[in-house]
Parts: sequence; C-alpha cells; structure tokens
Amino acid sequence: MDDGRRTLEPGELAARDRTCVWHPYTQHRTEATPLEVVGARGSLLRLADGREIVDGISSWWTCLHGHGHPRLVEALAAQARELDHVIFAGATHEPGVRLAEQLTAIAPGPLTRVFFSDNGSSAVEIALKMAFQHHLQRGESERRVFVTLEGGYHGDTFGAMSVGDPDPFFEPFRPLLFDVRRVPADADAIEAALEDLGPRAAGVLMEPLVQGAGGMAMHGAELVRSARASATRHGVPLIADEVMTGFGRTGELFACAKAGVEPDLLCLAKGLTGGMMPLAVTLAREELFESFLSDTRARAFFHGHSFTGHALGCAVALASLEVVRDEGTPAKLERIGAAIEARLIDALPEEIERPRRTGGIVAFDLPVTSGASGYLSELGPLLRQVAIDRGVLLRPLGNVVYALPPASLSDDEVEGVVGALVASAESALGSSRRST
Ligand SMILES: *Cc1c(COP(=O)(O)O)cnc(C)c1O
Repeated sequence: MDDGRRTLEPGELAARDRTCVWHPYTQHRTEATPLEVVGARGSLLRLADGREIVDGISSWWTCLHGHGHPRLVEALAAQARELDHVIFAGATHEPGVRLAEQLTAIAPGPLTRVFFSDNGSSAVEIALKMAFQHHLQRGESERRVFVTLEGGYHGDTFGAMSVGDPDPFFEPFRPLLFDVRRVPADADAIEAALEDLGPRAAGVLMEPLVQGAGGMAMHGAELVRSARASATRHGVPLIADEVMTGFGRTGELFACAKAGVEPDLLCLAKGLTGGMMPLAVTLAREELFESFLSDTRARAFFHGHSFTGHALGCAVALASLEVVRDEGTPAKLERIGAAIEARLIDALPEEIERPRRTGGIVAFDLPVTSGASGYLSELGPLLRQVAIDRGVLLRPLGNVVYALPPASLSDDEVEGVVGALVASAESALGSSRRST
C-alpha cells in the first residue's frame, strides 16, 4: 500500500481491539470476536480475511444507498476542500442553508424550521425540549407529560430513554428517567391518555408506521392519523420520530407522508446522509419557532452541540437527497422489500410467527419457545453467527429477525439475505427442538 499503512493480518485488529475498545450494546465477556471490516462498497462489507458479507441491516439502519456511493464520496471531498466546520451559533454556511431549504421543501407538512444536531437521540431530545419550552413560554408550565407508545425506542440519552420503553434496554436506568404516560399502540389509548392528562399533556411522540428497535412492530396509517387527530384536539404537538423510517425505508420518502399525516415536530437522522456522516435534524412548525422570539435572550432555545450544522455532514446530506431523487430510493427499497418477502414466505418454517413488511423492512418472530424471548436472550449472538456463515450481516432483536438492507441490494444479494433469514429461523427452531 502506498498510504503508509501496513496490511492487517486477519485476527490482528480484533486482538488489539480487545485491549482498548468498549463496544456499544456488547457483553464483552461472552460475545464473539468483532468482524474485522477493512472496506465497504455497495451492499458489501469486506473483511480482513478476504470474505465479503452483505450488510443486511444497512449498518444499524443508516446506510441508505449502499456503502461508498460515489456521489456522496465526491460531495464529502469537495466540501472538505472548501469548509469543514464552523461554529453554527452566530455563523452560517451554504450547505447548511441549502439543506434546510430542501428539507423544509420535502417535509411532510408545513415544517419550516430546521435545527441541526448529529444523532437521532439528540434530535429527539431537541424536539422534547422545544415542545416543553414552547408550552412554558405560552404560560402553560404544567404541560410536562409526554404520551408515548409501548415498544417505542427513541435513543439512548436520558430524555430519549425516558420517552422510550424501558423494556428491554433501559431497565437499570429506570430510577433516573422522567415520567411519561406510556400507552399501547392503540388510538383509543392515546386519546384516553390525553383526555386524562388534560392541561398536563405536553405532546404525543411516536415512531410512525414502524417501531424499530422495539422489535420492528408495524402498525397501520390509521394509528398515526388518530394520534394526529387526538393531538390536535387536545392542543399538543405531535412529534414524529422518523429517525429510522425517514428517507424511503417505508417505501415512501417519509412514513408520515405515507400515512397522510403532518406532524408538528419531526426528527430525522440515520438515513439523512445516506449513512456517511453523523448528522440529524429536528424540523418544527413556524408557530413553534415563533414562540421563542422575544426581546429577551432568555427566551431563546439554549441548546447546541459542538458539531451543530456540521458542513461536511450537510454537504453529504445534500448529495444523498439528490441520489434519493435521481435513483428513486423509496421505490427501490419497496421493490427490494417485496422481493425478499415473496421468496421468504415460501421458504420459512411454518412455526414462524407474524411475517410482516413495510417498504424495505421485512421481519418475522421466532416462537418464544425457541429460547429467543426478549432482547437479552442468548440466542441473538448465535443467530448473528449463523447469518454471517451464510455471508450476511443480520442482528436480530431478541426473537425478532429482520432485514433492512440498503437500496444497492442486487437480485443475487436478495437471495443471500433470504437464505440467511431462513437459516436463522431454522437454527433457532432446531436448537429448541434439541433442547426439548
Ligand atoms: C436509532 C434511533 C434513534 C436514536 O438515534 P441515534 O443516532 O442512535 O442516537 C431514535 N429514534 C429511532 C426511531 C431510532 O431508530
């Protein structure tokens, strides 16, 4: 190599990693050695031992078009030559302004203001803080209880954990979380909660159409529309967390658009830059923004991050939006999802429960008798290995096995993903049969 780096021997990186790295959501004592990823192009991750495996989960749902899309790479390099980053309080830049213009133009509904951050959890925190301070500044300081859904996931920071379902991820942190009104994903339950809270209700927060980390639970547009109607009736904002569903995952640009709903606040992250840069946004209606306008600084929204409005992220996001338009990413993901589903239905063992799909997201449940109940079951790492042996990266959520691939997935790769999903199901059922 001419860049001064040695070629890594297989195993070397993992050995060094073991001495100094702490990985997310990882039990370091028991989990397998991490994959040594040395490169990625399109749907494929290249490993140090020469294997190539299909990224069946878009690298935690971020990688929208496939890895290393040339237009994103070019946008990143070009922007780096001009302006890398500048403080975004009291300064602005063209990629930031252009991205805000474009996001407000394509947003589902009249969301006219864009607040930048760099991850989905922060995008959610920002929406919660905006909603709460908005109430305060209108003299409604009692409005502090958010209505959220069971099985919801909104990120790992304290506010985001509070509005998420503590089961299964946040159990240890329960004593530190603030109170919310968590209800089943049901229209009547949302309405009843708002009715009961009355002047204490602060807003309704939901993942529209698909609850991701909570287990790829899918609900109809009807639920989102009812939540919208209830929020309007009770005069509180509807906050849509489209961190995962945004930018085509559901077969349309946004789940809210697919459901025919206009939220008051919208959180976007993962697919925003096609997975190439960490960037997130919270979009708000003008009326919300206006309640922060005042002659006193104290009424401003005192929130910001070192990397707010990062110019490299904005430039890549702009390129990604162009690719979404030019390549028809939502329709592509819909076709890929339909192709996986069609092959899967015939191939899955009949004990498999609730096969389901929304757009490019395909999921099914393993029966809990297969030892796979709960996210913390020991089966997850085992199933991951089964899939990797079939050349596909999957990461089941407890007893929920799913694929959420990038739009680059070829027909051959579709077959590969289906093979890995089926192999995971068979091995889970096989291990339960052996143990009974
Ligand atoms: C991943 C996710 C988040 C958190 O985003 P991070 O970038 O991981 O902080 C929030 N909401 C939903 C729906 C998500 O899927």
